[in-house]
Amino acid sequence: MLEFELSAGQQQLREGIRSIGKSVIRPMSLGWDKNKEIPEDFLRNFYSMSKSLQGAENPMADYNEGPKEKSNKPRSTNRTAAVGAEELAWADASIMLSLPGPGLGGPPVRASGTPEQKERFFSIFRDMSDQLRWGAYGLTEPGAGSDVKAIRTTCRKDGDDYILNGRKCYITNGGRAAWVVIFATVDASQGRAGQRAFVVEQGTPGFFVGKIEDKLGLRANETAELVLEDCRVPAANLLGGEEKYQSKEGFMTAMKTFDNTRPLVAAMACGIGKAAYEYARDFVKDNYMLGRPIPRYAALAERLARISRRLEAARILVWKAVWMADHGKPNAKEASMAKALAGQAAISACIDAIEICGAHGTLSEDHALLEKWFRDIKVYDIFEGTGQIQRIVISKRLMTNLRGF
Ligand SMILES: Cc1cc2nc3c(=O)[nH]c(=O)nc-3n(C[C@H](O)[C@H](O)[C@H](O)COP(=O)(O)OP(=O)(O)OC[C@H]3O[C@@H](n4cnc5c(N)ncnc54)[C@H](O)[C@@H]3O)c2cc1C
Repeated sequence: MLEFELSAGQQQLREGIRSIGKSVIRPMSLGWDKNKEIPEDFLRNFYSMSKSLQGAENPMADYNEGPKEKSNKPRSTNRTAAVGAEELAWADASIMLSLPGPGLGGPPVRASGTPEQKERFFSIFRDMSDQLRWGAYGLTEPGAGSDVKAIRTTCRKDGDDYILNGRKCYITNGGRAAWVVIFATVDASQGRAGQRAFVVEQGTPGFFVGKIEDKLGLRANETAELVLEDCRVPAANLLGGEEKYQSKEGFMTAMKTFDNTRPLVAAMACGIGKAAYEYARDFVKDNYMLGRPIPRYAALAERLARISRRLEAARILVWKAVWMADHGKPNAKEASMAKALAGQAAISACIDAIEICGAHGTLSEDHALLEKWFRDIKVYDIFEGTGQIQRIVISKRLMTNLRGF
């Protein structure tokens, strides 16, 4: 049964992040954004601090503990990650995305990697006290974003290696990643069946970082172009091994990733929306006495109620989607529902928050965080599948399962 109460460890994680968010992250947030700075010193400290959140559940547990015996006990990893992601995005979504660790590269390795690959690629994140490390996920190409089956990066077997050629764009943390999960095709005419997923390690000859993008929002996070030119990748880095690719496994690896990551992206959107909501609520509380029978005040109160209602509904969808993932239940529809609603609800929250503050809301000096959240939030309805794509996924699932809720 879906559980609404957070465990003591999850509550502690949330409170710990909020406290660090308030006292350390928020005061630095605008400077990092302005300078497009990835604050490595802060991230190093945060990494140590998060280890010392005594008793708090650790969203990295699956990666840190190494290979484990399979247990029938439901996990709460996805739920814990969603709680942490929402709260850290409340503090600063760029910092959330810039956190060291496997990032978006983690779910495909976890879902499709062999035990040897999981050990090899996750073990580097177990102790980052000497050096911060990132993983990344490289699917999108110029001309192949929403249309995943259109990817053109090629892979060709050559002895014990594969030779990869192509170009990936908009890859989160791609420029600094120790390894990137790269999707390529043995034959584009085979569509989904031709796709393969490789872990390409930094320093592999023929693997280069191209342009680092200058973005509207999330400016304290890097988005990179990656180039593969006759890049020789050992066959041992083909995710899951050769036998896994008898059917559409490469494509399925990409889709399974989304089932895990879309709810987390939705949780981050809820966090940014919540930040904007709280800001507007406090502004209204400080500037108007909503109890007085003035129609304008009632309209403001109604708007705040609508923002919080939609964000709460989005969070419940997130929690359902992560609960299903933690219990091993297929959750593609729920993951897309969570992402579709959270993106829209949080974008509206950020727009409404500015409007509620009136002309003041547009002044970047007085309300600079509001302006930053307004820039940060837009992409939450674009990456990990746009809003339109989520609605297509949902309607396809509804049409193939007519049993209803
Ligand atoms: C900051 C940032 C970080 C990112 N990080 C990563 C990453 O780490 N890894 C990665 O692989 N990618 C990443 N991306 C890429 C992102 O996932 C794509 O931008 C996204 O999937 C949309 O693809 P596109 O930009 O090519 O737009 P397109 O697919 O060209 O879409 C353009 C418009 O057409 C609409 N559209 C497309 N197809 C349909 C359809 N069938 N029906 C109705 N409407 C449709 C879309 O909804 C959209 O509005 C990132 C992007 C950004 C901006």
